[in-house]
Amino acid sequence: MLDYLKELNEVQREAVVRTEGPSLVIAGAGSGKTRVLTYRIAHLLKQGARPSNILALTFTNKAAREMKDRIGRVAGENVARYLWMGTFHSIFSRILRAEHETIGYPSNFTIYDSSDSKSLIKTIIKDFQLDDKTYKPNVVASRISMAKNNLITPMAYANSPEIRSADKNMRMPAISEIYKEYAKRCRLSGSMDFDDLLLITNLLFRDHEEILKKYQERFGYVLVDEYQDTNYSQYLIIKKLAAKHNNICVVGDDAQSIYSFRGARIENILNFKNDYPDHRVFKLEQNYRSTQTIVNAANSIIARNKKQIPKNVFSENALGKPIKILSALTDNEEGFLVAQEISQLQLRDHYQFEDFAILYRTNAQSRIFEESLRKRNIPYKIYGGLSFYQRKEIKDLLSYFRMTINPDDNEALKRIINYPARGIGQTTVGKLEVSAVSNETSIWRVLTALPEINHSQVNKGTATKLMGFVALIDRFQKLSQESDAFETAKTIAEQTGILKDLYNDKSPEGLSRHENIQELLNGIQEFSISAKEQGDPDKLENYLEDVALLTDQDNEKDEEKNKVTLMTVHSAKGLEFKNVFIVGMEENLFPSQRQGEKATQESLEEERRLFYVALTRAEENAWLSYANQRYRWGNLDFCTPSRFLEELDERYTEGQVPTGVSGRASAEQSNVSYSSPAQRFAQRQPSSSFKTRESQNILNKKLVSLKESGRAQDTFQGDDPGKIQAGMTVQHQRFGEGKVLKIEGIAPDLKATVFFRTTGQKQLLLKFAKLRIK
Ligand code: ATP
Ligand code: MG
Repeated sequence: MLDYLKELNEVQREAVVRTEGPSLVIAGAGSGKTRVLTYRIAHLLKQGARPSNILALTFTNKAAREMKDRIGRVAGENVARYLWMGTFHSIFSRILRAEHETIGYPSNFTIYDSSDSKSLIKTIIKDFQLDDKTYKPNVVASRISMAKNNLITPMAYANSPEIRSADKNMRMPAISEIYKEYAKRCRLSGSMDFDDLLLITNLLFRDHEEILKKYQERFGYVLVDEYQDTNYSQYLIIKKLAAKHNNICVVGDDAQSIYSFRGARIENILNFKNDYPDHRVFKLEQNYRSTQTIVNAANSIIARNKKQIPKNVFSENALGKPIKILSALTDNEEGFLVAQEISQLQLRDHYQFEDFAILYRTNAQSRIFEESLRKRNIPYKIYGGLSFYQRKEIKDLLSYFRMTINPDDNEALKRIINYPARGIGQTTVGKLEVSAVSNETSIWRVLTALPEINHSQVNKGTATKLMGFVALIDRFQKLSQESDAFETAKTIAEQTGILKDLYNDKSPEGLSRHENIQELLNGIQEFSISAKEQGDPDKLENYLEDVALLTDQDNEKDEEKNKVTLMTVHSAKGLEFKNVFIVGMEENLFPSQRQGEKATQESLEEERRLFYVALTRAEENAWLSYANQRYRWGNLDFCTPSRFLEELDERYTEGQVPTGVSGRASAEQSNVSYSSPAQRFAQRQPSSSFKTRESQNILNKKLVSLKESGRAQDTFQGDDPGKIQAGMTVQHQRFGEGKVLKIEGIAPDLKATVFFRTTGQKQLLLKFAKLRIK
């Protein structure tokens, strides 16, 4: 058995064994915060605490699983499994199901993911006859989400002059009404979105003291990882739950707070001292993850942030190699360079593919790297983006599962009522929905009442088809009571005709969709088998709960080992890899400027924290790459290298550090103070003048629009001068080395657009240019 206390340094050990009272472990990246939390739980169990009295909150399900495994190895698997350990959403959804009667929800409520929420918001905007160009569903959704995370109910929203006037300024005065309607329709559908899971838990604890007391009593110990990224709603839940026993331990790093756009509040960690006057602080300073070079470089970056708790982080690991800067002419070349480095290093230094990660700021950047890795046969796995569970065929089948568990789920119903096609048209569904809204009920209830009411709106033929659908779902419901998840899921896939439909589609897309469904079913089979082995509930509803609560970081299939990891920097939080590529190090990309938001000191500091997170994922080697030109939003843009490259202390870097990035410091105003939640909320409004002068300049430099250039032409192959193709590196007598961006025209008058390092972009007639292929 693992002697866990020997695996800790002195401060870590103190933080582990001081189990009573409030503790704050505040420390830089890689200093063992998560390890402390894990061993602290193990220690509690060894000391005789009951696992069911311990509540431990993690940022992802995967992190919870890994922690549980480790604790199991110290304290025994059979003990560890009874811990209340998981993400906020999974733990509180469990509690809400147990207390469903009090909150007036069915115990089988389903969970709307963000695309369901957006689709419902779109419907409401349409029903209200509002213009969806003014009322952008994304903006409305994030407004509602922010309100929920600040515990602002629809009524409070409507009653806040501050918020209402902010909405008016954005020319969206009806958000308040949309929010109210949205909440109502979710409730009628027996569904909650992610934010509801926290909001309704808060309301439950606020309004029902006896229930709060029960959980306060139960959770003798409360532990939270990544505390810096909790939002107000989460903060309050924790505070309430810990109030009785006061045994709360939170670990975090203010320098890694990166979710403010989702409502996370760095103040939570800063205010811990005030919330718990009898607390103890443990500062961990030694980084065990990374080389000295990486730690020092990361320190040099974060030191530029004005607002932070001062920390001294050092490493006693090897000095390590300098951080390599890769300069690429184009985004394609960036992909090429990164893939090349990976294959060289993997061969030379005998790394596994799983030792590499490519981290980017936005999901859209992944495509270039997928292509370049595929070209070299390098296996990779990709997180987030259009994840497996968001694929059309998978969501369709999952919607049947949702209907089986909770037939009131309107979003699921609308998705599959006519898939596979059964002759129920849009108009019919529209009428049913109108009827549901006006009767304040779900579409399903309108459907099941059809035979009893003389429904003039639906003709007999359609009514028969609708009844067929009702009978189908009824059958699935019965089945789901009697059979395990796999049996039910397989029957649903077969009897709905989804499997057959995809099987009959012999196009490559059809085949791959069919495979995806098979993969999903395999996953459900594994779930059923393992649930049986563990003695856990193995019904479809249990499976669905697991899937609904997945986070971006949880998309991994267990068999996906030994592959290069591709993910956003946000998803990489808490993880570590031997070799890390941080790509797209360019102004407006990283630091990014969120569309519709002002570039403030505050947002820039968050970007810098994000860069700190990215860099501190690396154990041995780190690369930073940027391209001089990149396709974004369909345009080929000139890029300016990221200011972060210049901010890095050059003692730790190798390769061409671009110059001329400076002069930006003036854009950073000083002294940003925190305001009240309501003020902050009110201030978070998109602004039309969000572009700084600098980004405007860059935009002005935009050269070739995709419409004109047409990437499809890039593959021209002709005779002699036609040997030169887009993507090639060429040498020009006067301009030196350059990259061919595109070839157009008809031989022999072919024209090449070439980007030269020295002079920028040029158009040349190939027959005169005398370009040499390099
Ligand atoms: P992050 O801020 O990125 O979440 P963290 O502070 O949670 O990092 P951990 O992930 O717990 O840090 O630890 C970083 C690495 O250092 C892990 O591989 C961990 O196993 C190792 N580590 C932590 N403490 C020690 C120690 N005392 N001795 C040896 N290795 C350690
Ligand atoms: Mg950690």
